Amino acid sequence: MNLSDTEAWVKGEGLPAYRARQLRDWVFKARVGGFEGMTNVPKGLRAELAEKARINHLEEIKKEVSGDGTTKYLFKLEDGHSIETVLIPERGHFTLCVSSQAGCAMNCLFCLTGKQGLKRNLTAAEIVDQVVLVKRAINDPDRLTNIVLMGMGEPLANYDAVLRALDNLIAEDGMNFSHRTVTLSTCGLVPQIRKLGKDTKVNLAVSLNGADDETRSYLMPVNRTYPLSKLIPALRAFPLPNKRMITFEYILIRGMNDSDEDAMKLVSLLKGLRAKINLIPLNPHPGLSMEAPSPERVFQFQEILVQNHFTAIIRKSKGQDISAACGQLSGETAGSKWQVACGRG
Ligand code: SAH
Repeated sequence: MNLSDTEAWVKGEGLPAYRARQLRDWVFKARVGGFEGMTNVPKGLRAELAEKARINHLEEIKKEVSGDGTTKYLFKLEDGHSIETVLIPERGHFTLCVSSQAGCAMNCLFCLTGKQGLKRNLTAAEIVDQVVLVKRAINDPDRLTNIVLMGMGEPLANYDAVLRALDNLIAEDGMNFSHRTVTLSTCGLVPQIRKLGKDTKVNLAVSLNGADDETRSYLMPVNRTYPLSKLIPALRAFPLPNKRMITFEYILIRGMNDSDEDAMKLVSLLKGLRAKINLIPLNPHPGLSMEAPSPERVFQFQEILVQNHFTAIIRKSKGQDISAACGQLSGETAGSKWQVACGRG
């Protein structure tokens, strides 16, 4: 529920309007787990609310901490599916990598999440709840300032729920994140990208991974529906606030998309776009026959982009020792198969 939903519900219950904000404060700011903790709500009303309404329902079933401090949470949904959320320590703050679907239908060749197909869309509550629960779990919740929708799933394939979740994450009467520190990453669903620019002000990231249609269609089937000739114009038309850039994620795969020529193609493709390029050397996972390039190749690729005036950052994926890095996510609980992806890395 957003504020107006809550107000309408409260009104329908015959309660005074101020209860809406009060309830939202408890849920999003104090992050209580149940109505019984709402100490400024009369006892009788608390009991009544507990019968009629519910707060969050994700269940933390596992937590693993990497040597670099990255923490991945495995959450179980009510219907038994599970999703992962990854908390990434950065200089001075935390970034939380949040899932938008259980599984994913996009079937990108290099990504473990795609292998399981789509289980289902997450609800807005399940998306927001990942943030609420991690904030509740950590010692210094105020340091969790950044959110990336780069976990399991394709956020723009679950548009309405994602938008509703973003609304609650950014609302002052909700989780109160700044839209400047929230990033949505997409594999490139063009119609939804065009809509998103009108509906939100959050940052946009695009998983590019190939600078020509042949390479990109091979790696990412979505490119057959929305080839670069459709995607790039939609990005050029994307309304960017002052000083904002679109982030491009580009996984570097040995012999596939990592040559000097590929770098030059990328330069021409993105020419004139306010673009920041994150280079992610491929993360391995079992059954994947592709490899990351040598570090020299990665540096050389970066160098070409930098010489051509692009901001290009090599993203060493964090959490690899606990399989919490980009594209390593399966959401399965069975033994060592529990793996997580996060694009920010
Ligand atoms: N579906 C959205 C959100 C997921 S982001 C999207 O595609 O943007 C997950 C990120 O991890 C994507 O940028 C993807 O390119 C990257 N990724 C997937 N598998 C990877 C792997 N094996 N190594 C490195 N990065 C990977």
